[in-house]
Amino acid sequence: MTGGPGHVVEGRHEVGAGVADQSWDVIVVGAGVAGLCAATELVRAGRRVLVVDKGRGSGGRMATRRLGAAVFDHGAQFFTVRSREFGDLVGAAEEAGAVTTWSDGFAHVAADGAIAPAGDGHPRWRGVRGMTDLPKHLLATLESAMTAGRAAVRTAARVTALDSEGACARVTIDAGTNSAEILDAGGLILTPPVPQSLDLLAAAGTVLEPETRRLLESMRYDPCFALMLVLDRPSLVPAPGAIQFDAAAAGPVAWLADNQQKGISVLPALTVHAGGRFSRDYFEAPPDEVMDLLVAAVRPWIDGDPATAVVERSLHRWKFALPTTVIPAPFVAVGTAPPIVCCGDAFAGPRVEGAASSGLAAGRWMAGALSP
Ligand SMILES: Cc1cc2nc3c(=O)[nH]c(=O)nc-3n(C[C@H](O)[C@H](O)[C@H](O)COP(=O)(O)OP(=O)(O)OC[C@H]3O[C@@H](n4cnc5c(N)ncnc54)[C@H](O)[C@@H]3O)c2cc1C
Repeated sequence: MTGGPGHVVEGRHEVGAGVADQSWDVIVVGAGVAGLCAATELVRAGRRVLVVDKGRGSGGRMATRRLGAAVFDHGAQFFTVRSREFGDLVGAAEEAGAVTTWSDGFAHVAADGAIAPAGDGHPRWRGVRGMTDLPKHLLATLESAMTAGRAAVRTAARVTALDSEGACARVTIDAGTNSAEILDAGGLILTPPVPQSLDLLAAAGTVLEPETRRLLESMRYDPCFALMLVLDRPSLVPAPGAIQFDAAAAGPVAWLADNQQKGISVLPALTVHAGGRFSRDYFEAPPDEVMDLLVAAVRPWIDGDPATAVVERSLHRWKFALPTTVIPAPFVAVGTAPPIVCCGDAFAGPRVEGAASSGLAAGRWMAGALSP
């Protein structure tokens, strides 16, 4: 079982209303913020929805991890709120105690190394215990539908193939069992990074309109190394606990956050994000080499000699971290019988807010596209 509401199931171990032997109105691939927003919209419209994710938990790139007692956000670090719709969603999450504001800006290191103080007046939000708190809140909003058997979320379940049977979408899942499981649904929402969704569609032999194919194939993402460092004493990162590095700066680092000052870790714990260029150039390099280079780059914000002050370190590689281009539509429908739609942070604007808005829009579209 994963954390969160009681009807989230991992692999084949199903609890609550049960998942097997049901056909679903919609299967959503991906339990990141886009997939969970799409699911809430479908449930609101009275549709029965199954969300599947290959990860051990939900949240996707909104990810929080522990090294002993140290807690790290190692994917998204904060989110901003611009639209009214996302503002309403975040307001409800704040009321439920899931999210709070962190700051109104962070220290900035310019290309010449000069540090400017934090603060532009625009709130940056974070999860109260970590960034996974927002997806966990979205899961909690699905709980009564899950109890009633109208929704389910399965983690540790990788979609390996898509197909269609008449007007039904057919999804093959590898849930770590000996045989693949096959599930049918009236419609399909794909939220993985676009290259991964395209691979699934290509393997299914889905023929895309030339313009749709061109649009989706044009999507590009930067990879990102996330280095997690447990320190033996508080860091020297200035309040409110993070530094953004100018993209034009020659160094490998794009972002440095102090999870203790952020309020999610009792132990001093730094998250270091490498920039896109460095992450691309070193993507296949040995982890120790990458970690040494990143530690050297953040040396000024570690109190003492890193050889002793860093008591534990761990490196995570995000292959599709941040879109560098964005498709100027909230989602793209790639099929109508059965309805299949791609959404996520590549659409409707990048980042957490873009992913949420895209998921909500895709869920609404799908609810209308299904037969009554
Ligand atoms: C290092 C890093 C730093 C970031 N910093 C910020 C930030 O500070 N602020 C901000 O707003 N945004 C930030 N982002 C971006 C933000 O995290 C994303 O925009 C947002 O979380 C994307 O949500 P999503 O639901 O579209 O995609 P995802 O969160 O990627 O969800 C897609 C899900 O699909 C699942 N999946 C993929 N393939 C399959 C399959 N075959 N079968 C089953 N499941 C599958 C994945 O496991 C994943 O959970 C950052 C991202 C990274 C990686």
